[in-house]
Amino acid sequence: MSLRAKAVVAREIGKPPIIEEIEIEAPRRGEVTIRLAACGVCHSDLSATNGTIPYPLPLVLGHEGAGVVTAVGEGMSRYAIGDHVVSSFVSMCGRCHYCQTGRPQLCVQSLQALYTLPDGSVRTRDSAGNALNVFCGCGVMAEFATLHGDSLVKIDNQISLDRAALIGCGVMTGVGAAINTARVEAGSVAVVFGCGGVGLNAVQGCAIAGAAMIVAVDTSDSKLDLAKKFGATHTFNVDGQQNPGKALYKLTGGGADYAFDCVGSGRTSEQAWGILRRGGTAVIVGIAGPEEPLTLNAQQVALSEKTLTGSYYGSARPSQDFPRLIALYRAGRLKLDELITRTYSIDEAPRAIADLAEGREGRGVIIFGEP
Ligand SMILES: [Zn+2]
Ligand SMILES: [Zn+2]
Repeated sequence: MSLRAKAVVAREIGKPPIIEEIEIEAPRRGEVTIRLAACGVCHSDLSATNGTIPYPLPLVLGHEGAGVVTAVGEGMSRYAIGDHVVSSFVSMCGRCHYCQTGRPQLCVQSLQALYTLPDGSVRTRDSAGNALNVFCGCGVMAEFATLHGDSLVKIDNQISLDRAALIGCGVMTGVGAAINTARVEAGSVAVVFGCGGVGLNAVQGCAIAGAAMIVAVDTSDSKLDLAKKFGATHTFNVDGQQNPGKALYKLTGGGADYAFDCVGSGRTSEQAWGILRRGGTAVIVGIAGPEEPLTLNAQQVALSEKTLTGSYYGSARPSQDFPRLIALYRAGRLKLDELITRTYSIDEAPRAIADLAEGREGRGVIIFGEP
């Protein structure tokens, strides 16, 4: 039986998303329907509405959701009605080369679930009966969603769902970049470029890993102030700096062991590479536009033994990492409460996207149900 649900739908590039009542079909084989409790508003949602990441529209936004299972399709024994789940914007088949070699974030199935479920169809229709695409196989900025079971991770029922939702994208991506991708060593020096939702989490990932010096870099003093709460030992506002590379080199006492580009532009990636000491590791976390170039000095790559790597979804192994992050939160070592700077009802979603575009600090979260 299908359900009616309010959803946040991007219909036109450059226009605010629209709140629509849509139809959510029942789960088919291997699928699950969930009632959303909360959904974080992520920069990628904004990128879908402004065309930075080209998605075929119309598209139900949302990929950082948490909720409760309300229906389970045939053959999906991993879930039962009432289970608490967090969405994973990477669908993980568990069988491909990448899943089998411990890198499910690169799963081939995820490429079949960029804007539909993995089988290429959707369970979402607008009031005229037309199919609606779903962001990365999720589309969880809606009161209900039907997803493939491979796009969800079951969590324990003790953590509040608005906190848990954040783990589904921003926290996993940022913390994972530090602890999974870079494997930051205790006592090291790290520099994080960009202190939005993901950057703050890269900062706290470095703190959890025991970095001795964590320099947060941004153009906004309010974001830098927030970064201090997440473990930044130093902050650096690049606005108006003539030679930020030189100043950062001096501040770090000779360069960083790790540098994270959480902005996602060729220029910030080059700055991250440039601030490394010899043997250091630069991690590109933010996703640049499709034509963005990156220029390195080839000779220096050899002579300096630096490493440049991408980090997609914080090199997540969601079924292992989500529970680990929740355990860190319980132990008081991962900050989630402080991350939520604003909450919205689903009707306020266009405002939430606009706030993100204006660069407001922290994470906005849409809370479903009671206002
Ligand atoms: Zn995201
Ligand atoms: Zn796979």
